[in-house]
Formats: sequence, C-alpha cells, structure tokens
Amino acid sequence: MQASCPKCGMPVEEGLCRQCTLDSTTLITTPDMVEVVICSVCGSRQSKGKWHLPESRPIEELASSAAVDALCFHKEFAGPEIGISLRKVGATRYLAKMDIKGSFKGQSISEQHEIPVWIKLVACDRCSRMAGKYFQSTVQLRGNNIRSMSLKEIEECKKVAHSMADSGYHGGDQLSFIQEMKEVKGGLDIILGSTQLGRRMARAFQERFGGRLLETCKLVGKKDGRDVFRSTLLVRFPRLKRGDIVSFRGSLSFVSGFDGKTTQITSLQEGRRSSMSEENSEIVEILGNRADALKAMVITTDNDVLEIMDPETFKSALASRPRDLQVEPGEEVDVVRTANGFIVL
Ligand SMILES: [Zn+2]
Ligand SMILES: [Zn+2]
Repeated sequence: MQASCPKCGMPVEEGLCRQCTLDSTTLITTPDMVEVVICSVCGSRQSKGKWHLPESRPIEELASSAAVDALCFHKEFAGPEIGISLRKVGATRYLAKMDIKGSFKGQSISEQHEIPVWIKLVACDRCSRMAGKYFQSTVQLRGNNIRSMSLKEIEECKKVAHSMADSGYHGGDQLSFIQEMKEVKGGLDIILGSTQLGRRMARAFQERFGGRLLETCKLVGKKDGRDVFRSTLLVRFPRLKRGDIVSFRGSLSFVSGFDGKTTQITSLQEGRRSSMSEENSEIVEILGNRADALKAMVITTDNDVLEIMDPETFKSALASRPRDLQVEPGEEVDVVRTANGFIVL
C-alpha cells in the first residue's frame, strides 16, 4: 500500500511530503537586531567581547557584514547566496534587506529577510585607559656615574619604544601603549600601559645598549579582589657605548655589541671579534666613537701610514694605515679624531 503525507495526503515514500517538510522547517533565523560596537576614538570594533584592530572599512560595510554574520542557516541549507541592500534609517541606524538564495533537499529556495543594525559608539578599553592616565609599568633609562645618556641614545630609545609599543598592539596586546615619555635628569622615563611590554622593552634596551636591569614592583591597590602592582624597570647604561673606539690588548677595537655583562669588541685592523670583561670595560681608554667619523682626503699613501688632510683645519696629518685598506691619493677615507691623532676606520 502506498503511504501518504500525514499533513496533506499526497502520496509519499514515507513521512512528510517535500512541500510539507519545507513548510514546517525554519531554514534561516535572524536576530531582532544587530549591534555594531565601534570605538569613537580609534575606530576599533568590538566583536564577541573582544576589541579588534581599527579597520579602514566604512561603517556601512561593517553594518552589512554584521547583518550577514548574524544570519543562522539550517544545517542542510546548501550554498547560500546573499544579496544585501543597506538603508540608513537614523543617525546611527540602518536596515539591512537581504535576498537569500540556496537549496534545501534539492529544492531551490529564495527568502527575504530584514535586520535592523544599530551602530553603538563608545570608547574602547585601550582608549579609555589612555585617556584615564592608566599605566602598569615605567621603564627608566639612565646613564651611570661617569656619563649620562647621549642625545643620540635618547632619540634611538624613543624610536625603539614607539615601534615596540606599536608591534605589541598589532600583536594583540590592547595595553601595549605609551602613556607618556619624558626626558628627565640623567635619562628617559617611558610610562607604559602594560607590564609585559615594559619587560620586553627593558630587555631590548639592555641587549642593545648593555648595562644592568633592575626590576622593582609596588603594590598600588586592589581590583576585583586581586592585588594590582606597578613595576619599574631601571636600565642603567654602561660606560661604553656601541661604536666607542678603545685601545685594548695592544690593538684598536670598537664596541660592536653587548652580551650580558661582557662587551663585544671588533678590531679595526682585521675585523676580529672578541669580548671584554665587565672590569676591563670600566677602565679601558675610550679614544672616540665611530659615529663621530669625518671624511678626510688622502694626500699620499705609504705602506703603513696615510697622509691625510685634516677635515677641519685643512692641514696635513698622519694616520696609521689599516692593513687591508686599498686607497689612492685624492680619495676620501673615514677618520675619527682622538687625543693621539687620527684613526682611519
Ligand atoms: Zn504534505
Ligand atoms: Zn579605541
């Protein structure tokens, strides 16, 4: 005996007929409205409780994609194709009209839906903390009892700080921001939104400039039952700077880096690398710095001596010739003036 649809009586193999199955199934559900939360300061958008990086997409596009994301399809609804038109219905309100095509159990489907989209402008966590002078850590960069930080070091540190805060933010740390950066007696203070950033930054400065790192923590209160700490990361720069030219164990070298407490040096003559202990770094004679190099014209050359024109007095002067330097009279070389005469780099 042929079975029939219990709803309409159409002959079927079993269960409901196609049309009755379709009529009793919800293929697409939509919410009553969708909210798009955007920071009015930086333009970042909140979704699923998280703030995302600001996008350059116009608000209309964000509203349309929020409406599409809010659609919920029956799991057997195949290949939805969505046409959307957005109408502005208020200062911060839109109506998204959607034309949805697809198929269900082999039958083509076309449905129309409307979702109101509200744009909600607020200040994101990051922007409100920045405006509220919030900070978690301070990186203090200081010279030592022999020298203060140089202007060049301060400028370089500022640049590094900006780029690290920026990349931390793009890497997902919402609190990766510089609250304030100020030059103080003897160095620079960098006040930061996150302790994690402060630690990373302090380590990067120590790797680049050497010296000692000291972290101290201070309890500043409680938030949601948890202790809140602020940390201070003091980096005390060493006596030697990158590029300093020193006379060590009978040869001229320059400071090429730092590794913990040891100073890495590279000889000017052969480019040979070696390292110098902390004790020696404190006492070795500093003759000049590669950054202060000047161009000097070569007048005559000898096997181990160059006669050059002093770039400031235009008088002739002698400088020892690095072993592998190929140079002809009339060409220029880089020199550093020291108390003991010129050094050719
Ligand atoms: Zn039926
Ligand atoms: Zn913001």
